[in-house]
This record gives sequence, C-alpha cells and structure tokens, in this order.
Amino acid sequence: MGKSYYCEKLEKTIHFLPDGVKFCCSCAEGAGLKIQDFSKFNNDLVVKSRQEFISKLKSGIIPQQCKGCVEYKEKTFSDKIHSLFNSNQKNLVSYIIIGHFKQCECDCVYCSQNKLFPDAVKNYQILPIIKKLYELNMIDEHNLSVEFLGGNISLLSEFNDLFHDFRSHNCNKFMIHTNFIKYLPQIEDLDWSNIISVSLDSGCRETFQKIKNVDAFNEVVNNLKCLRSKSNIVFHLKYILLKGINDNREEMSKFLTLVKGIDKKANIIIDLNYNDTLMSPTGSRFEVPENYYDVVEFAKEYCSSYGIPFFINPHAKLVLEKGSYIH
Ligand code: SF4
Ligand code: SF4
Repeated sequence: MGKSYYCEKLEKTIHFLPDGVKFCCSCAEGAGLKIQDFSKFNNDLVVKSRQEFISKLKSGIIPQQCKGCVEYKEKTFSDKIHSLFNSNQKNLVSYIIIGHFKQCECDCVYCSQNKLFPDAVKNYQILPIIKKLYELNMIDEHNLSVEFLGGNISLLSEFNDLFHDFRSHNCNKFMIHTNFIKYLPQIEDLDWSNIISVSLDSGCRETFQKIKNVDAFNEVVNNLKCLRSKSNIVFHLKYILLKGINDNREEMSKFLTLVKGIDKKANIIIDLNYNDTLMSPTGSRFEVPENYYDVVEFAKEYCSSYGIPFFINPHAKLVLEKGSYIH
C-alpha cells in the first residue's frame, strides 16, 4: 500500500461562507466549493465535492487547497485496515461553522473577514439549509458542534431562530466568536461544554481602540463580567500578537491581570496575525520578532503561577517553533 492521508476536519465539517462552503475551519485556503446562489443549495453537490477531496487524500495526493496545512495526517497501517472495515460512507456532518455573514462594529487591523468578504453583510438565509440537512439526516445529532463567526452574531436576524433550532435538536456544543460589544442573553444558560471566544488583544482601552478601531473596551469587559456571573460557559480570551502594537510585556501584563480579575479559569489563547502568515502574499517570508518569544514566555509563566489555562494556537505554535514562515 502506498501513502494515504486523511483529514478529520474534512470528513466532518461544513463551513458556510458568503461565497460557498468549505470543509474545514479555513476561510482562506482549504477544501471547499464555490456557490453562487444559495437559494438553490444542492446538498448532493456538496457531498460529491467533499468526497473528491477525501478520495484525493486517500490516494496520497495533497489537493492544492490543503498544501501547507497542519491538519491532514498520514494514515498508519492500522488506520488503513480500520478504515477498510469502518468507512462512514455517508460522512455525517458533526461540525457546522456559521460564517456566511459579517456584521461588526470593529475594524480590527488583522481582520481577514474584511479582506476576504468586503460585501458579506448581504448574506443568504441559512436556516432553511440547516433544516434541510436535518431532514436529510445529514447531521450527526449526537455529536454535533456548532461554531458561530461573524463579528457580532447578535446582528444576524436569523440568529435566535437558528440557535433555537440547533438546541431543539439537542445540540449543546456551541463555540461563539464575538466581539462581545453587545451582550447575548440567549447564551446565559449554556454550560461548560460551550465556549465563547473573544479577542481582546489588549489590557486597556487605548490599545483596544488602536487594534479594533472602536472605543468599546469597557463594554466588552462589562459584558464578560456579566456573563461570568450568570453562566458556566467556558471563556476563550484571545491575544493576537501584533507587531509594534501589543507585543510587549506591559500590555500582556495588563491583559492577564484583567483576565485574572474576570475569570481565573478562562483559557488564554495566544495567536499570530494571519496577515503575516496564512493570508500574506504568496512567496513572502515572515520572521518571528524576538520580542514575541519574550511576551509569550512571560504570559506562560504568569498563567502557570496563577493556574490560568494557557494555549498557543496550533498554527502559531508551529510558526513560533520554526522562527519563520514562508507562504
Ligand atoms: S487538510 Fe487542512 S485545508 Fe485541507 S480540508 Fe483539512 S483542514 Fe482544511
Ligand atoms: S471583531 Fe472579528 S469580524 Fe469584527 S473586525 Fe474584528 S476580526 Fe473582523
């Protein structure tokens, strides 16, 4: 048997974007299908397209869209034997990403949504598509996770209905990315198997404004405090390192002190600006600045001394370990 690869995300994910679907979390590269008119959404086409990517990987070919990705893995001999007897022909969807719209009060210096989908405010109706997928038994109801993107999901007119539709099918694994300028009372009763992810990237109003181009630091912090007092949902509080803006100990220290005051169990997630790496022009090279290591080490030690969970995004970790990135 020759080389064979698989990607778990590809086999389980459907990611709705303004201009089509992807089969993983990536909205830039990544396996996917362009769709002009979502009112004629055709599930068979989606299934067929995904199957083509799966087959390519299986036969040892890395599709252009997946090159450089850290997610696909080479199948071991025992994987190959296992998949011969356990192939999930139907490839039920157990991960749905709602990323077809972008409405946001911020204008973050690193925002890929602005760059990729400048007109994404005009989105299509997604609830009928989700209902259809349920009707067709395409969703793995027992294991479904749903991720909401979009800046400020509360501005999506379908959000309430969509959220309740998933919940009525017993989904209790949501990951909600939001700028959190507007409070979301709907998520108060979500428990620890759900996540809210907010990219604060700063520990004070001035730096927040420099990064997000909006003066809303206090609103976001107050909303986090309010939600923490009412819900058991898990917090992911992100810090995206930005050259010359927040890549210093002082800002990181303010951020960590703030987080410690809001929720000692919040997960701190360190990430890099994708405009420097995955979204950079092809052929460009990014050298990790020396001070990034100092800031990351400082954060790691701080979190360890206060028992705060600390993570580095897997792709960022790879780039930090290598010291550079060539796109
Ligand atoms: S290998 Fe990477 S780019 Fe390709 S489908 Fe999987 S996660 Fe997406
Ligand atoms: S909050 Fe998110 S969607 Fe809004 S501008 Fe920032 S990165 Fe973009």
